[in-house]
Amino acid sequence: MIIGSIVNGVVIDHIPAGRGMELYHYLKLDRMECQVALIKNAHSRKHGKKDILKVNEVIELDFDMLGYIAPQITVDIIRDSVRIEKIHPELPERIAGVIRCRNPRCITSSEQELRHEFRLADRENGIYRCIYCDTKAEKQSVI
Ligand SMILES: [Zn+2]
Repeated sequence: MIIGSIVNGVVIDHIPAGRGMELYHYLKLDRMECQVALIKNAHSRKHGKKDILKVNEVIELDFDMLGYIAPQITVDIIRDSVRIEKIHPELPERIAGVIRCRNPRCITSSEQELRHEFRLADRENGIYRCIYCDTKAEKQSVI
């Protein structure tokens, strides 16, 4: 793959520098057959440095998860060498199956098959709370 000339694929841009690899794993790109390029510490006019992920296939992306992990990123969808869509994932109102509730008394710790689900309690500060016990989500508790 020649970096910069994707015919069909997605470009995940404005990833905070150093977090590209993390996103690569969250998106399960390591388990896919498609070609992936991770560009680390690319120059960014706005943020100094950034990471970029380029995938040479139009894959399904979990925008809720992307918005939760890095709300400043942009996703370009490219078809026939033309950018057909630019998506700015936002903090989702609800997020399920991405973060776990750490409260040992929460119903999700006894009911193993229950999906961990959080609601956005404070958009300005990006604070999520468990829908079952109202415990605040920790940023590091991504599944
Ligand atoms: Zn809970």
